[in-house]
Amino acid sequence: MVRLRARLARSQTTLGKGLLELLSRDRLDDDVWDEIEETLIGADVGVAPTQVMVEELRTRVKVLGSRTPDEVRGLLREQLLAQIGTDTDRTLHVTKHGERPAVVLVVGVNGTGKTTTTGKLARSLVGDGKHVVLGAADTFRAAAADQLQTWGDRVGAEVVRGPEGGDPASVAFDAVAKGMDVKADAVIVDTAGRLHTKTGLMDELGKVKRVIEKKATVDEVLLVLDATTGQNGMRQAQVFAEVVNITGIALTKLDGTAKGGIVISVQRELGVPVKLVGLGEGPDDLAPFDPEVFVDALLG
Ligand code: GDP
Repeated sequence: MVRLRARLARSQTTLGKGLLELLSRDRLDDDVWDEIEETLIGADVGVAPTQVMVEELRTRVKVLGSRTPDEVRGLLREQLLAQIGTDTDRTLHVTKHGERPAVVLVVGVNGTGKTTTTGKLARSLVGDGKHVVLGAADTFRAAAADQLQTWGDRVGAEVVRGPEGGDPASVAFDAVAKGMDVKADAVIVDTAGRLHTKTGLMDELGKVKRVIEKKATVDEVLLVLDATTGQNGMRQAQVFAEVVNITGIALTKLDGTAKGGIVISVQRELGVPVKLVGLGEGPDDLAPFDPEVFVDALLG
């Protein structure tokens, strides 16, 4: 996986300079605080967390009196980390249980980067010497299984696919069965992200999960969310969170947005930790999420 620090440093994911400048002003009147608030909300931090941070910053700044740039940075860093959570368990459950492979279900709206994230995750596990089987359970889009096959060939993972238009749950079952047969370390199942109706989605994803569970436990349900879609993407993600028990978020396309504050709002709204971040289209452009590295990159 790519080094988060290096890649974020080259991305647009920074909100720090403007904020640091605002917070360093001699006089912090209501207008400046409003501007600070707008900057945070503009970066998708979310209204409620922004208000908590601004309130806390106001109190701290008052206590300090005069501030050096280092102190300002320190205050902001502390507030951002408090919102993101440094003690949160972000373990990705991809470890084999005895003979049984770990099973990961990848869900989310089409176009968010599900297949790409599945491919990158496989690449990272294969790179660690693990045997990975991929399941192409998006049987609705003709190109989806081909796209996953390309990733499988590229990273060295076997792909189980079914007939186009076939039953996604049966492909998922076959993939897990294959993984068990070949004593794979992990099976990653890429699902369809059709948001036609909530009940339709629930039936489809629910069935995939239920059918897999006839063979094995699902260890990780990763929700893929596109960081560039802001609050709209979040609403769609919420529907998924209501129909399956999400255990982690993979936040993609963080390389293409200045709205890194979405990490804070998404965790708050969905109540699930960000575990992985996507930082590009290449096979190595996936990184485990590290709050401290991320906040330092945000502060520029
Ligand atoms: P799916 O429909 O959810 O399976 O989405 P895909 O995996 O097909 O991805 C949709 C598009 O987003 C593709 O062009 C990917 O290359 C691109 N993409 C996925 N993840 C990232 C990322 O982290 N950064 C960037 N810049 N592009 C990404």
